[in-house]
Formats: sequence, structure tokens, C-alpha cells
Amino acid sequence: MNYYMPTKVYQEKNAVKQHGDEMVAYGKKALIVTGAHSSKQNGALRDVTDVLETHSVEYIIYDRIGENPSIRMVMDAADIGRDQGADFVIGIGGGSPMDAAKAIALMILNRDSSQEVLYQPMALRALPVVEVPTTCGTGSEVTPYAVLTREDIQTKQSISHRIFPKLALVDPGYLKAAPKSVLTNTAIDALGHLIESYFHANATEYSRMFAVQGMEVWGMTRDILLGIEPEDEDYDRMMLASSLAGMAIAHTGTSLPHGLSYYLTFHKGIPHGKAVGYFLPGYLHLFAEKMDVEVTMVLRMLGFGSLEQFTGFIRECLGAPEITETEKRIMLDEIMASDRKLAAVPFEVTREDVAGMIK
Ligand code: FE
Repeated sequence: MNYYMPTKVYQEKNAVKQHGDEMVAYGKKALIVTGAHSSKQNGALRDVTDVLETHSVEYIIYDRIGENPSIRMVMDAADIGRDQGADFVIGIGGGSPMDAAKAIALMILNRDSSQEVLYQPMALRALPVVEVPTTCGTGSEVTPYAVLTREDIQTKQSISHRIFPKLALVDPGYLKAAPKSVLTNTAIDALGHLIESYFHANATEYSRMFAVQGMEVWGMTRDILLGIEPEDEDYDRMMLASSLAGMAIAHTGTSLPHGLSYYLTFHKGIPHGKAVGYFLPGYLHLFAEKMDVEVTMVLRMLGFGSLEQFTGFIRECLGAPEITETEKRIMLDEIMASDRKLAAVPFEVTREDVAGMIK
């Protein structure tokens, strides 16, 4: 058994200002990678630039990372970072900018390589990455993953290189500015990470320690997704559940719901967490047939009395997915062809099993 998660994490109010001195220790010129709007509205970008200016560290801002970043976007930002002499990268936002920051840090340092190296299994180093999350879903601040959109094979896929951030500055206060739909979709993404990690073939007592704690914390805030107004401690818990879920998948990876979700996001533009959430009830049904006791235990940790209650909750949060028969067939073909995703399940899975998850 082993566990490896080398990111230094500070999780507290005003984390960026409190620990900015550690952030600036990673270089002399930062490339800040973020989206166009949210990090300006929630104050995270301002907090980071204030710290950099206080310490006389230069920076360039690349604020054109949209949802589901493409390889082209990564190469574009890396060109700018390289030309301007950036020697560390700061990702601010949800999963898209944080994942992109890792890939950009890799491509700046490997200046003579083409984009093909992103998906080649070879040993490459990356510039130091600092992450500042502003949503409560991806856990990218503590994982080595960087999921990008691949136009060439029409899906989303994590790059081949494992890049753990050096430092994660996690301030739950940024969640206050997030729209309700973003809170819901990202909290459901974190839920997917917790459930998929717990039942993953690679799960160990170490990874389950994070998943179990994450589920208990997540369960305390689930009513927020049904419209209850959040208080400060709810934001704290939602952010904590997200980071704990990230620590769990950093060890195990994700499983079938994530594998299935990529089709819906790539082809239908459905937000990541929502696309994952559709498949969680079916995924638990699949396990309930073989591991009834564990499923009941997981549901209890999350605050649900039965699988039916859980299914109803997910439907209430997300609505029902609209997936045509043709789309279902393509999704099934894709997942059944992915040895890696099938190997994430600790027992043999048939096409009918997976079809049962897409009902
Ligand atoms: Fe996810």
C-alpha cells in the first residue's frame, strides 16, 4: 500500500494573503492562468496580484481559459509564458484553468517539444504550479491530473504526465460569489470523485480514509444543493469535501461515471459535474448487486437512507438527462473499448451492466 500527494495545502480564510510569501518563493515571474470573469468577481485574482506586487514579483495574466480547455489554448498560453520568461504558473478558478495551468507549465519548460508530447508516456518536467481553487468540485489543486479537450479523438482526456501542484491555497470564501448552478454542478463532481474513488479497483485504506471523511463532510452540506441558503461553514465544508475528494482520486483515479460523462460534455456541452452526476445512481446500483453492505454504508455517510432516496436527490438537483438511443450506443462502444476505465471496477463489467447506468 502506498500514498503519494506531495502538494502543500493551506485551507483557510484568506489563504492567499496569509501564505503568499510561500507562493512567491517559486519564481521571479508568474504566468497567471485563469478564466475571463469569475476570478475577477470573487476577488481571487486581485488577492494573487496584490501578493505578487507586494513582493515585487512580476506577472503576466492569461485570462482566456474557457470551459473544457483545448490543447490549442494550452499551446497559446505556453507561447506567451515562454516569450515573457515566466518561471512559475499560478492557476486560479475551477478545474479548467487549474488543469490548464499544469499542462501550460509542462509546455513552457519543454519549449522545443510539439503538442504531441502532452499525450506521450515520457518523463518530462514542468515549471512549479500554484493553484487557487474558486469552485468546489475538481480537487485539481491536489491532483496530478490535467484534463484537456482533444479534438482529434473527440473527447476529453487527462494528459499523460502527472503534475502535482507545489502549493494549493484554498480559501472557501471565493465560493460565495459562485452562481448556484456552479455550486451544484461542482459539488456533484466532488460527490462523483468520492464515490468513484471509494469503489475503485485501486482503492486502499489510505485513499478510503480521504473518501470516507470527504463523504461525511459532503453529507453535511447536501441540502444546499436543494436551495437552502449556505452559511460560512457550509462553504468551508463544500470546499473541504472537494479537496478531500481530490486527495482520494489523486491515488485511485476516477471510474465509469467520469468515463461516460466526457461524451456528454464534448458533444452536448453539458457541464462536467452534471454529466458525471447523471450516472452516479446507476453506478451505485451496479455495486449494490455485488457489495450491498458497502453501498448502504456509503449512502449513510452521505446522509441518504436508501438508493431510491439518493436517485431522487440527484434527479431533483440535475433533472433527467436527454440521451438518444444512438448516443447511448456510441457511449457504450467507447466505454467498452476503454480497458483503463473498465479496469477501474473491481469486478468484471458487461455491456449490459454499463447500459444499465445510462437508463
Ligand atoms: Fe471530475
